[in-house]
This record gives sequence, C-alpha cells and structure tokens, in this order.
Amino acid sequence: MSNPANKVIVRIPPSPTGLLHIGTARTVLFNYLFAKQNNGKVILRSEDTDKERSKPEYEDDIKQGLAWLGFTFDEFHRQSERTANYKRALERLITEDKAYISKEEAKEEGQRSEVIRFRNPGGKITFTDMIRGDITFDVTELGDFVIAKSLEEPLYHLAVVVDDIEMEITHIIRGEDHISNTPRQILIMEALGGTRPLYAHLPLIFDAQKAKLSKRKHGEIVAIKYYREHGYLPEAIINFLALLGWNPGTEQEIFSIDELIKIFDISKSQKGGAVFNPEKLKSINRHYVRLTPVAEIEEKIKELRPNVDVEIIKQIAPLVLERIDTLSEIQTMLDAGEFEFFWQVPTYAEVESQIVWKKDQPTDSIKHLQIVKEIVEKGGNKDEIMTYAESVGRGSVLWPMRYALSGRDKSPDPFTIFAIIGRHESISRIDSAIRAIPTSTN
Ligand code: GLU
Repeated sequence: MSNPANKVIVRIPPSPTGLLHIGTARTVLFNYLFAKQNNGKVILRSEDTDKERSKPEYEDDIKQGLAWLGFTFDEFHRQSERTANYKRALERLITEDKAYISKEEAKEEGQRSEVIRFRNPGGKITFTDMIRGDITFDVTELGDFVIAKSLEEPLYHLAVVVDDIEMEITHIIRGEDHISNTPRQILIMEALGGTRPLYAHLPLIFDAQKAKLSKRKHGEIVAIKYYREHGYLPEAIINFLALLGWNPGTEQEIFSIDELIKIFDISKSQKGGAVFNPEKLKSINRHYVRLTPVAEIEEKIKELRPNVDVEIIKQIAPLVLERIDTLSEIQTMLDAGEFEFFWQVPTYAEVESQIVWKKDQPTDSIKHLQIVKEIVEKGGNKDEIMTYAESVGRGSVLWPMRYALSGRDKSPDPFTIFAIIGRHESISRIDSAIRAIPTSTN
C-alpha cells in the first residue's frame, strides 16, 4: 500500500462498549471537517478488541447515530476481523527482537502466564500536535510495556498502531485523554517502520461544575440516542458539537455543516476544556426547529390527534411551531391539553381565580366581557376591542377575554384564538364564561 498523493486520511475508532457518546460525536465531527477540507478520506473502525465489554448493539447504535447525524464513511473495519494482521505484526516484532514473550509471575499457584512485551529503547520522544504544538515525553519510565496477551490477543496500543499504519492514517484527531498514549504508540509505530502521522488532541468536555461529561455522572444525556429520541434535529447537534472546543472568533453561533467545512480550523481548537451546556443545545435546536416546514408540524399533529378537524390543525400548526424547542414537545404540549380548547369547549374549572384581572372585581370582568361580546356581535373587529381595552386598561379586558376563549391561564392571545375558532364560537364561549363567574349577588 502507498499513499503517493499524500491524501489526508483520518480515522474514527470508537470502542463499542457503550452508546454513541457526545464526546465521540464531537471527535467525529472535527475529523470529518478536517478531512472534507482536505479532500481526504474518513475511515470508521470499530475497536472491539475488548471482547467482554464490546457489544454488537453498541456498534449498531454508534453506526446509526453517526448516520443520523449525517456522516458517511469511506471505509469500515472491525478490529475483531483483523486478528491475523495484529498477529503478523507481533511475530515480526518478536523476530526482530523488538518485542518478546515474557513469563509473568503466577497469579495463582500452578498457573503460568505469558504476555508479549515491547522492548522499550528509552529516551525522549517529541511529537507535533496541531493544537498544542510540540510535546515531549521521556519514554524510559514506561518500561517494557505489554502490547498483547498472546499472538491472538493484541492490546489496544498494538492494534491501533497496526491499523493506523495499514490504513495509512495521516492525521490522528482524538480526545486529550489520549495524549499519554501517544508516546507508546509512536514507539510501536517506529518499531514497525510506519510513517508518523500528525496529531491533534481535542479538549475534554465538562459540565458547568467542571465535572468530566460521563455516563456514570450525567446518565442518558451523554448519549446521542437521547437527543434522537427527544425531538432534536441532527443539524442542531452538529452545530452544537462544532462549538465544543472551537469557535469562529466572532459572535456567530449558527453554522451549517457546509459553512463549517469552509471556516472550521482545527489548529484554532481551544486547549482548555470545553463546556457542555444543555440550554445552549436547546436554543440552537430551537433555531433549527423553527425552520421546519409547517406542513411537517401539521403531519405530526394529525398523527397525534387524528380526530381533530384538519382545518383547525392547519391553523394551529404555526402556533405550535412557535412554541417548541424540540419536536417531541409537540406531543408534550398536546398531552398537557395546551391546544385542546381549539377543538373542545373549555370548562372554566378555575374561573374564579383565573378570569379576573389583578385588582379588578368579578363584576368588572363581567362588564368588560359583556362589552366585548356586544362589539363582536355587531361585527366589530380587533381595533374596536383594542380601543375599548385601551380606554379601561388592556389587561382588564384582554385577560378575561383570553381566559373565556381558552379556559387556560396560558394560551395564545385572544385575537389569535378568536380567528381560529370563529365569531360564533367565540360569542358562545364569552357567554358561558360570563355565566360561570360567581358574583356576590347570585
Ligand atoms: N478506541 C479508542 C477509544 O474509543 C480510540 C482511541 C484513539 O483514537 O486512538 O477511545
């Protein structure tokens, strides 16, 4: 194999020992952007050498999550299918006396164990990190570290290096937690005669309290699956991930993937930790949700409320769209009855505490509602109602009117409701509300 054109080749090597993590997705994005900027190739590699912890369902989740985010890969490999390659490399290292089989202390009596150790030449290693500059390690203290349990059971460092050499990886872009692995991997790489790639170690991701983002501490919100299932949009996640460790140096916060490919600069990634802010993710998501075609919102409401008149759904869809941060909030809002009054007459269960505006008396509200009703009956419009409302105080009129039309303490403004339910229904509701208000005289 050769890479004469010096084509950029990057790799995404998740271990399938858990659901696709936010941090992995961020690393994928940074690799992806860098590769696309350089007309390069992106290789996905399932690092399933840990037989006990690796699970096919995690690999599926990782692949599905990455596909949902919009990533495509030029190649896919699975380490468990490459055992022969690792064995060949181990045999070569042993033949060349760069590694050796080492008899280990028996852990239990009567048992003998062997491992394969790397013969560490010692000395200093300096490598170039595209974000952090030159980093030097003294490798002497690493000793003759273990690279395989046997010829068939390579450990992480050996497998990664064999893959990186054979897949001709030119740039290794990964989390900062791997900095300390780099000198070991460079030692193995040199022993195998590989060409050293360039490195970029991305900042780790922390919560607002400076705790590292982890499944153990933060639970399901570290998994991309959570966002997929909670009505987040892939474009929003991509946009958010780009800002986890990088920023454009301007106030701009909204970026499409194409725009990112144009302006992203790996070397300008920050060195210090990145902060994961779920509120920011939500607000970015809100931006993308608002761009959803209203017809899609109509479809979702239809699915959830098949019995509601299609004309009403058409009219409320824009109102729903204005109010949601995530698509799954459509269901939450409908289930909470937030739009029910559009197709069901409200009951005014808490009319006494709800309908009367601040310091008004129930009789004031009755009077205002009666006047509104008269205006409406005479065919009057919003302007006329507003003129009256301005003359006595907006809240005194608009608040009871809104409550009469919706029966809820929170709802769209009364004129919006009026326009959707119609004049006739509005008059009837105002009437019912007036009758529902208890007064001292009745
Ligand atoms: N399988 C390793 C991980 O998931 C990959 C590390 C690397 O990028 O070399 O952390």
